[in-house]
Amino acid sequence: MLYLYIIFFVLLSCIPSIANTYDAGPIFDENSWGQPFLSGNSNTSSCCNYDSSTYIQNWGIGHTGIDLGMNKVSIGDSVKAISNGIIVGRRLQCTGSLRKANASLVLVKHKTSSGVEFIAIYGHTAPLDLSCSGLARGQKYKEDRTEIAVQQGQEIGTLVKYGVPHMHFGIAVGASVDTLFSGWGRYSSKAGSPPDYFRNPEDFLLANSPSQASGECTGEYVNGFWHVYCP
Ligand SMILES: [Zn+2]
Repeated sequence: MLYLYIIFFVLLSCIPSIANTYDAGPIFDENSWGQPFLSGNSNTSSCCNYDSSTYIQNWGIGHTGIDLGMNKVSIGDSVKAISNGIIVGRRLQCTGSLRKANASLVLVKHKTSSGVEFIAIYGHTAPLDLSCSGLARGQKYKEDRTEIAVQQGQEIGTLVKYGVPHMHFGIAVGASVDTLFSGWGRYSSKAGSPPDYFRNPEDFLLANSPSQASGECTGEYVNGFWHVYCP
């Protein structure tokens, strides 16, 4: 019997702890994509730690982003835009307390230096200046599509609670705001693979740099999609 216990503990010790599977990736750099958390909350080496294997991880249901700042950030920390762009969607979960409003999110349209537009999904993030007041009866979410130009580093929301505090970060190319409001972070594993508009955030950001435009961006809604114009 003791023998079995020893085997059990040896096996257990082979499972890597969550804490040491995260490392500070090279994605976020002040000269390229900005850090999504305020420097006051964390430092360069810990702010954006992530586990790249969480993309398309199957936890009974598919996961279409990477989780940032695990164990390093706190509820209420500011979330910042990683480059200039336009907030195209804000969604606030209005059921339960704000600390549990994990399906709250901010969608920001950004542009790469090669002109590719994408929507970054800043998940588990309560948008600024949006409240649940006036919500229609029976509705769970306040959703807003007001277009708001943002600069790199500008605060776009604050982290809300979802398990260990972290931000869910996703990238979609060619998906509408409405599509992402409902399917922003998960997909049915039975489908086998995620919707084709999702990109691996690590691969995508490493392969691209932000549009060098420094002025405020504007947007235009055409055929169901936002188009970003940066001066
Ligand atoms: Zn996540």
